[in-house]
Amino acid sequence: MRLNEYKEGMTMAIVTKPQNKFESKGYVHCPICTHTVEAQVVVAGRTARVKPGQKCPRCSSTLDAAYVLRLERAA
Ligand SMILES: [Zn+2]
Repeated sequence: MRLNEYKEGMTMAIVTKPQNKFESKGYVHCPICTHTVEAQVVVAGRTARVKPGQKCPRCSSTLDAAYVLRLERAA
């Protein structure tokens, strides 16, 4: 019985946490207007990407091609 509980616990851990993935607000560099703007950033493991479907508040172009400069998160 104890072994079964242990196995179920292991499975739960794998299912609920496949990767350290979360969303955060961050600063991204817009390649169109070359300004740094705030955007939602998706962090998966060690890579941070701009969340798709966002627009630059300055030039209204898509931020999909922008790169993340830094994240704004509580340490
Ligand atoms: Zn822009």
